[in-house]
Amino acid sequence: MYDLIIIGSGPAGLSAAIYASRARLNTLVLEQNFISGGQIIDTYEIDNYPGIPGISGMDLADKMQQHAEKLGAVIENGLVTSLDLTGPVKKVITEEGSYEAKAVILASGAMHAHLGVPGEDTLGGHGVSYCATCDGAFYRKKDALVIGGGDVAVEDAIFLARGCNKVYVVHRRDELRAAKVLQESLLSLPNVEMVWDSVAKSINGDGKVESVTVTNVKDGSERTIPVSGVFIAVGIEPRSSYAGQNIAMDEKGYILADETGTTNVPGVFAAGDVRKKQLRQVVTAVADGANAVTSVEKYLLTLK
Ligand code: NAP
Repeated sequence: MYDLIIIGSGPAGLSAAIYASRARLNTLVLEQNFISGGQIIDTYEIDNYPGIPGISGMDLADKMQQHAEKLGAVIENGLVTSLDLTGPVKKVITEEGSYEAKAVILASGAMHAHLGVPGEDTLGGHGVSYCATCDGAFYRKKDALVIGGGDVAVEDAIFLARGCNKVYVVHRRDELRAAKVLQESLLSLPNVEMVWDSVAKSINGDGKVESVTVTNVKDGSERTIPVSGVFIAVGIEPRSSYAGQNIAMDEKGYILADETGTTNVPGVFAAGDVRKKQLRQVVTAVADGANAVTSVEKYLLTLK
């Protein structure tokens, strides 16, 4: 039996693994897709993590994973499907088997949200994407369209504008949510056209994306924009469904836990984007991981 199982190998999970290794806890990290880093692996550039400006998400993920493993962390692949938290021994059930631990940190992060418009699912992988750094190269010298106004949408648009002929950004309001520094970069680009106050009505195409029809929310007018690629960046959803009914969550599925990571179930802690919190950034995720391990250490003392 492990002292601690950490579910997730994004910044929160890897930070927790570093702190747990230094605390000499017998720890297992479970990751889902044979790759550590969580959402940051899809981020072209991270410019707000102190001390390493402009690092790529993939490089930062590599560094965090190497750091954790150098200190002795064990990372295994396993898609967690459910938890059995009824007794003092916590059971973590994956598709392949089950593991037991005295404590668990839920650091399973979040994933991109879906828009729910016609064409989004049917043209998925045929021009509809949720990851500009993964798929942007397919649209080199072509026209692409980004939906959303947050950090991800604006970063995606800036990234795409480097290679695309033209990039449209469709946002439902007349003001972006993204950090001001990103807004300034985006709005200075000559091949970006903002489509304000507009929502996507449908993504159109026969076998591949050919255009997007947008509706202006102020005057109801419609416009069909011919593009080859559509990048949807309308926010994130927590990855918490495996945790079941016994862990308290808000209406969106974010786990209720304060900055100590303490949930409503003794011995179960939450860290990173899966936790209900004000700000979801790498810097807050790694802080969560450290805090959660401190809470685990205090909890383990109560078992003695
Ligand atoms: P976000 O900040 O929640 O932004 C989502 C955007 O999509 C908003 O502009 C929102 O519009 C729009 N939207 C939501 N639902 C929509 C719908 N149904 N139709 C049309 N538009 C819709 O999400 P995010 O950009 O994915 O970022 C996720 C988190 O990661 C955030 O906390 C973000 O700060 C963080 N992040 C940080 C960085 C960084 O610091 N460099 C980079 C990437 C991500 P409204 O504005 O009108 O609500």
